[in-house]
Amino acid sequence: MPAESPLTRHRIDACFLGPYGENDSLLEKLVVEFLRDHVYWRRNFHPEDPPAISTEASRHPDYLAFESRMRRELHQLSASLKKSVPFHSPRYMGHMVSDLLLPGLVAQILTLPYNPNNVSEDSAPVTVDLEVQVGLQLARMIGYVHDPLQADCAFGHLTSGGTLANYQALRLALALKAFPVALRAAGVPDLTLPEDDWSAFNLHPRAGTVLLDQWQHWLAAQPSAARKQWRQRVQTARIEHLGLVEFFARHASLRVPLVLAPVTAHYSWSKGLKLLGLGRAQLELLPESGMRLDTDALESILERCQRERQPVLMSVAVLGTTEYGTFDPVDRMLAARERAAMAGLGHSVHVDAAWGGYLATVFRNEDGSLRSRDEVAKGYNAFPPVEVYAAIAALADTDSVTIDPHKLGYLPFGTGAFICRDHRVTALLSEEADYVFSGSATKSYLERYRGLGQFIPEGSKSGANAAAVYVTHRVLPLDHLHFGRLTRQTILAAEAFHHRATRFAAEMRDHVTAIVPFQPDSNLVCLALNPRGNTSVVGANVFVRRLHDDMRADPSQPLQLKQFFGSITTLRPEALGEVEMRRIFDALGLDMATLDGDEGNDRIVILRHTLMNPYLIDHENGISYIDLYFDYLEGRVRQLLADNKPTDSSATARH
Ligand SMILES: *Cc1c(COP(=O)(O)O)cnc(C)c1O
Repeated sequence: MPAESPLTRHRIDACFLGPYGENDSLLEKLVVEFLRDHVYWRRNFHPEDPPAISTEASRHPDYLAFESRMRRELHQLSASLKKSVPFHSPRYMGHMVSDLLLPGLVAQILTLPYNPNNVSEDSAPVTVDLEVQVGLQLARMIGYVHDPLQADCAFGHLTSGGTLANYQALRLALALKAFPVALRAAGVPDLTLPEDDWSAFNLHPRAGTVLLDQWQHWLAAQPSAARKQWRQRVQTARIEHLGLVEFFARHASLRVPLVLAPVTAHYSWSKGLKLLGLGRAQLELLPESGMRLDTDALESILERCQRERQPVLMSVAVLGTTEYGTFDPVDRMLAARERAAMAGLGHSVHVDAAWGGYLATVFRNEDGSLRSRDEVAKGYNAFPPVEVYAAIAALADTDSVTIDPHKLGYLPFGTGAFICRDHRVTALLSEEADYVFSGSATKSYLERYRGLGQFIPEGSKSGANAAAVYVTHRVLPLDHLHFGRLTRQTILAAEAFHHRATRFAAEMRDHVTAIVPFQPDSNLVCLALNPRGNTSVVGANVFVRRLHDDMRADPSQPLQLKQFFGSITTLRPEALGEVEMRRIFDALGLDMATLDGDEGNDRIVILRHTLMNPYLIDHENGISYIDLYFDYLEGRVRQLLADNKPTDSSATARH
C-alpha cells in the first residue's frame, strides 16, 4: 500500500482543529486575534463617539440578570450539542461530512460579526466580490474560462446547498431554451432568428447564447426610446413572464421539455422540477449500466424525443452519486448531446458534482492545466478509472456544474455552488433589466455581479460563507499540490478500505458473505453483507439494519457507546439494472425470487462508508481506523449471528 512520506503528511497538520482538538491553541489564537481586530474596527469608525454602554453597566442587577440568563441558555445549548454527531472523528464514516478546514472556519467566525449580506454590494462591499471570485476559482478547477476579461468567462455563485444549485441550473437552462422563442414572438428585426418555434426552442445552448449576445448588442445600438420598447416587447413574450401555461398555449407546436437524469440522481432533481412547475412527470430517469448512466439508453431516448417532437431541457450527469460515489460518463453524454443537437434537439448538459466536484483538484496542475491520467495515477492502486478520468476531462465542455463546498470542500454548511460555463446567459435571470448599459460600455464583470441578488434564487444571504470558501481556496488552491493533497488522502483511504474489506470477506467467509458491490470511483465505499446460509432479501436486510443500528446517531444514548458511525443505502433493481443485480445476488448467495414488492425488501440494504476524514490512517500513532472498524464489524457480525442462533429452550422462552 502506498505510504505518504512524512514530509507531505505534515503539510496537512495545520489544516483542521483535529480529531483530538490538537490545534486548539492555533484556533483560539486566531479567533481571539481577529475578534480584537473587529473591536478595534468598531472603535475606529468614529473614535470621537463615546461608549454608549456605561462602564458601570456591567454591575447593574439587570445586566447581571441578563448575563446569567444568557449563560444558562448557552450552557444548556453547549451541553445538548454534546449529543451531536462526531463528524470530526476518524470513527465517523457516515454521511458526506467531516472536520472543517481551519481557514474556512476561522474566516467564517471572523466575518460573522461584520454580518455582510451578499444580496448586493450595498450590504456586502467586500464579500460579494469574494463570492464572485469563488465562482472563478471553481470554474478554473473544472476547466471553464475563468478570465473575466474574456466575453465568455464562466460565472459561479454560492447557494444554500447543492439542491438550490441544481434548481438554479434548471432555471437557467429553461430561460436560455425559451428565449429564442420570445425573440421570434416579439418580431425582433435585423437578427437572424430560427425559422420556427421548434428550432428556436431546440437550439444548441451555445447557439442560444450567441443569439442572446447578438440581441443585447442590437438593443444597445437602439436609440433609448426604441430600446425600452423592444426590451419590453421581448420581456413580455418570455416564458418567465407568461408562465408555463400561457407560454405553451401561445406556442402550440411545443411541449413542456423533459429532464433526463440517471436513476441514481439525488432527490433534489425531483424537488427542482416541482419547484419550477415543470412537474415531476417531466423527470425521466435513465437506467445505469456498470454503475454509470447508460449512454445507449440516453441515445435511444434522445432519438425517441426527436421522433415524437418532445423537447429536452437538459441531461444531467452525476459526478459522484450520493449513494455509491460512482461517476457518470460526462464525455459520452456530451457526445450524445452534440449528435442530438445536430439533429435539431439541442439541450443543456449539467453536471451534478455536489459530491465529486473537488475530486477535480487531483487532476489539475498548479497552472490550471489538466494532468495526464498516468500522472494522476501515481501512488494509487486503481484510481482513476479510465471513465473517471474521461468524465473529469470533459467537464470543461458542459454547460453548468453543481459543487458543494460543504461536502468535499470541508467547509461549514450553507455552501453549495452553481457554476455556468458562459456568464452572458445570466442576463436572462436578472430581475431588473440587466441590459443596463452605463453609457455605451457594458458593465465590467465584477461590477455586474455586485448586484448578486438579481441573479441568484435566494435574496439575503451570508457573506461569511463566501469569505470562508474564498479564503480556503486561497490557502489551499484547487490543484493537486495544494487542496489535492487532502483529496488524495481520501482516495488512498478508500483504496485501503477496499483492500481491507476484501480481507474481511475472506476471513469471515464461514459466517457471512461480504462483497464490495462495485469498484469505488472515489472515496465512498459500500459493503453488502449476507449471513451464511441465508438466501432471502428480508434476512439479509434485517441483518444489515441491525449492524447499522449501532452505527448511527442516537440521542438517547451516550455518544461514547458508539464505536463507529456509518450509513446505509440500498441496491435497487431499477438503479442497477438486471445484469448487475443478478451478479450481486449471485455473489451474495441471495435468491432474486425473494425480492419483495413492499416493506422495503424490494431492494438490498447495504452499508455505505464515506471516507473523508484525513486521519482514517493515523500515521502519527500507527493506527488505522479502517482496521479498527473491520475488527469492530467482525465482532458485531459474530455477536449478531450468535444472538440469532435459536438455542432450544431460550428460543421458546423468548416467545
Ligand atoms: C448532496 C447532494 C445534493 C444536494 O446537496 P445539498 O447540499 O444537500 O442540498 C445533490 N446532488 C448530489 C449528487 C449530492 O451528493
